[in-house]
Amino acid sequence: SLESVWDEHLLTSAPIQHLSGITYWRDLKLEVSNKVLIPRPETEIMIEIVSELFKNNQGKKIFADLGTGSGALSIALALANPIWEGIATDVDKNVLDIASRNFANCSKQSNLSFYCGHWWNPLNNFKGKIDLAVANPPYIPKDVYAELPLEVKNFEPKIALFGGEDGLDHIKEIIKFAPLFLREKGWLLLENHYDQGDKVKELFHKKGFVGVRTLRDFSGIGRFTIGRYK
Ligand code: GLN
Repeated sequence: SLESVWDEHLLTSAPIQHLSGITYWRDLKLEVSNKVLIPRPETEIMIEIVSELFKNNQGKKIFADLGTGSGALSIALALANPIWEGIATDVDKNVLDIASRNFANCSKQSNLSFYCGHWWNPLNNFKGKIDLAVANPPYIPKDVYAELPLEVKNFEPKIALFGGEDGLDHIKEIIKFAPLFLREKGWLLLENHYDQGDKVKELFHKKGFVGVRTLRDFSGIGRFTIGRYK
């Protein structure tokens, strides 16, 4: 019953989304479990950022969502852009099962495929072909991770949150290999921690990206970094 779910939430700090097995994100209803990050409201804006980028650039595009988790970003992009072709990757096969179930439950479209592997690794057939890559990678620094609320630390997957000493381990790796996979003038859009904007911008510049910008979330935090590969 609702009451027993609430009691368990109060007793154990288990997220309501785990107790109910679902969450709502944008206009999507998504299955979640303790294998995937519960998609956050601030991440919803990434979809608006993308539609702004391509508003004067219609036509078919190939996009990738690296570390898709529940599939939130990739499913929303595939649904908003039915003529685009999407590729969602995740390192965990069980996670990809959740994401692909979510896609099937949200639509009858078939423009999203799921590949298992680490960041870009499953995309060898798409070298130089990706118009847009998005990711909300794990970026929480070590000291911040230790202090996360129990509701997060005890229940959500560390693999989806923890970014190493300075939080930038995975962001660095994604940026490093992006030039192999993006086509000329292809975009990379990443979510980052509230204080990582300047550092992530510098990492983009070092790898030859142009037009690099930090974009804010609804709280005014520089939460996203975007750039174009030459
Ligand atoms: N925003 C999430 C949190 O604060 C972290 C998401 C991530 O590491 N990508 O819990």
